[in-house]
Parts: sequence; structure tokens; C-alpha cells
Amino acid sequence: MLVHNDFTLIDINESRPCVGTDPELWFGAPDDTPPHLQETRPSMRRRESVAKAMCARCPFVVQCLENELEHGLGEQWGVRGGMTAKERQDVIRARRRQAVTDVEVA
Ligand code: SF4
Repeated sequence: MLVHNDFTLIDINESRPCVGTDPELWFGAPDDTPPHLQETRPSMRRRESVAKAMCARCPFVVQCLENELEHGLGEQWGVRGGMTAKERQDVIRARRRQAVTDVEVA
């Protein structure tokens, strides 16, 4: 049984589309990749699109995204929960701004 927002259960669930796939699909080439083999911006966008498409078919996308957002700005890597690290950082910043606005209004 899956408990809502319990990523521990998601983590061990082998039905996630990302399980068993190449980590480079989600995180790009390793940092020690020689410069001439590093990802170009167009190839990065294509790779991220493929990863996002897999997330879009994932039954755990909402829980996965919320789990990633809880990690905070400094711990965002790769495509997770249907978003790139940059997109998740934007959501975190927007939520923080909204939280400040909510406190000021209250
Ligand atoms: S949303 Fe994407 S990264 Fe998260 S568990 Fe599903 S397939 Fe994997």
C-alpha cells in the first residue's frame, strides 16, 4: 500500500519508470567528463525532455516532486519529479516569496 507523500515507500517501489535507467539521462554526464565529451545545451534540452516525459508517466510524480522540493535550494540535481533542478529552484524561491507575503499580510 502506498501512503500519500511517503517517499520511503516510493523509493523502494520498482514500478517507478526511472528505476534501472541510465543515471546520465537524469543527471547528465559526470563532472569529470572530458570537455570535448560534455553535453551541449541542445543535447541537454533533449535529454531533459526525455526524462520529463518519463516522469509524466510516473504514478509518483507529485510525491517525488514534493520530496525534491523539501531538500532546499542547495541540494537540487538533475531531472526529478518532472522538473529540472533550475525549475525546482524557481518553485522553491516562489514558495519562499509567497510565505513572506503571507506573513506580511497576516
Ligand atoms: S517522477 Fe520521475 S524521477 Fe520521480 S520517481 Fe517518477 S520517474 Fe522517477
